[in-house]
Amino acid sequence: MTTPVPPAPVCAPAQVGPCSGCGHPTHRYGLGGCPLCVVCHAPVLAQQAKKPAA
Ligand SMILES: [Zn+2]
Repeated sequence: MTTPVPPAPVCAPAQVGPCSGCGHPTHRYGLGGCPLCVVCHAPVLAQQAKKPAA
């Protein structure tokens, strides 16, 4: 089983940080930043889509 590698972040280098899930560089800081890369964030978004907003 291979771990998917997220694409390189397309943002300012100053906004790049390690993904809190897998540690790969991702767009973490600043506008549009997220502590999770697209690979780790996808299942989170899927979960949120299933649950009604509490
Ligand atoms: Zn990740």
